[in-house]
Amino acid sequence: FKLVEGEMLRKKLHNTILELKGNIRVFCRVRPLLPDYGSSGEGKVISYPTSMEALGRGIDLVQSGQKHSFTFDKVFMAEASQEDVFEEISQLVQSALDGYKVCIFAYGQTGSGKTYTMMGKPGQPEQKGLIPRSLQQIFQTRQSLLSQGWKYEMQVSMLEIYNETIRDLLSTNRSSLDLLRSENGIGGKQYTIKHDANGNTHVSDLTIVDVRSAREVSYLLERAAQSRSVGKTQMNEQSSRSHFVFTLRISGVNESTEQQVQGVLNLIDLAGSERLSKSGSTGDRLKETQSINKSLSSLSDVIFALAKKEDHVPFRNSKLTYLLQPCLGGDSKTLMFVNISPELSSAGESLCSLRFASRVNACEIGVPRRQT
Ligand code: ADP
Repeated sequence: FKLVEGEMLRKKLHNTILELKGNIRVFCRVRPLLPDYGSSGEGKVISYPTSMEALGRGIDLVQSGQKHSFTFDKVFMAEASQEDVFEEISQLVQSALDGYKVCIFAYGQTGSGKTYTMMGKPGQPEQKGLIPRSLQQIFQTRQSLLSQGWKYEMQVSMLEIYNETIRDLLSTNRSSLDLLRSENGIGGKQYTIKHDANGNTHVSDLTIVDVRSAREVSYLLERAAQSRSVGKTQMNEQSSRSHFVFTLRISGVNESTEQQVQGVLNLIDLAGSERLSKSGSTGDRLKETQSINKSLSSLSDVIFALAKKEDHVPFRNSKLTYLLQPCLGGDSKTLMFVNISPELSSAGESLCSLRFASRVNACEIGVPRRQT
């Protein structure tokens, strides 16, 4: 009885915190200057305010002599390690095991560190990203909760959304030709999205795999990466032009207390947010950019409408928001990383990213913030 009571109290406290703070958070992460950088002699455009108020939360960007200041829930400077970043999100990941629906996004221009934040560097264990670290933690916790009577089942799916078309990254029977066709919208497989009354999402024909260990998921992640790279060579660096959605569904049952939980962890590496020069974009590239812009602005519209508790939330305006609908509303939890490149040449894009993120962050209730 004590265990159930403690559990209920913990959940109640948790919900109260959510109500007070809002369930949308934005973290900003600036990547370091890359080693091959420097020959052009450009300076960095990012600095960190040192005032106590903005410590660890503020970021300044200087463009054309003008300073733009922003505040987020957390700012990770270039020196922050993958471990530092994970430490800040480990509780959020854990809440998926408590039955919450969680979405973690990485937003930013191509090259700003989204994939590094999510996946890390292949073959460098200390530089593992959020996805492998989250899985390791979830499977470890699952093991430790066994002694308290909890049994969990986990299922994984991975998909990509390119030009408003879904691609199943774990499908074993998809030919390269099928891939090409679906990209070009000429008769490739059409995946339809449906939500049931229990808030579960079903994507027709999507491969869903039962997984028992973090190693099994690593194997599937490798398979998905291969599947993405097939697309990449055929489709002209497409992976930075598509959204990657990793979903872990968690069902837990406690045999002694008869409690049940259904949690979902979505980890999303968004398409590069960069704009194309207006004059230079035509044909496929123009279509791609339009569809990326549409889905990214839909995402910000949805988050904004949810936080303002508006009657109409425009989930259906893009595949991405419709897919994630049950995981964005209600008592679900959302975290957005805005990844920033520090170079002068990226100043314009960085400013756009910071503005986008501060629009999302402004949804948070009761926290004073500075904006441009
Ligand atoms: P994106 O996914 O946004 O296109 P990447 O994650 O591929 O960008 O990052 C671009 C490059 O910068 C990669 O070589 C990556 O390893 C490196 N990088 C990004 N963030 C960091 C970081 N915090 N520390 C070290 N290297 C990083």
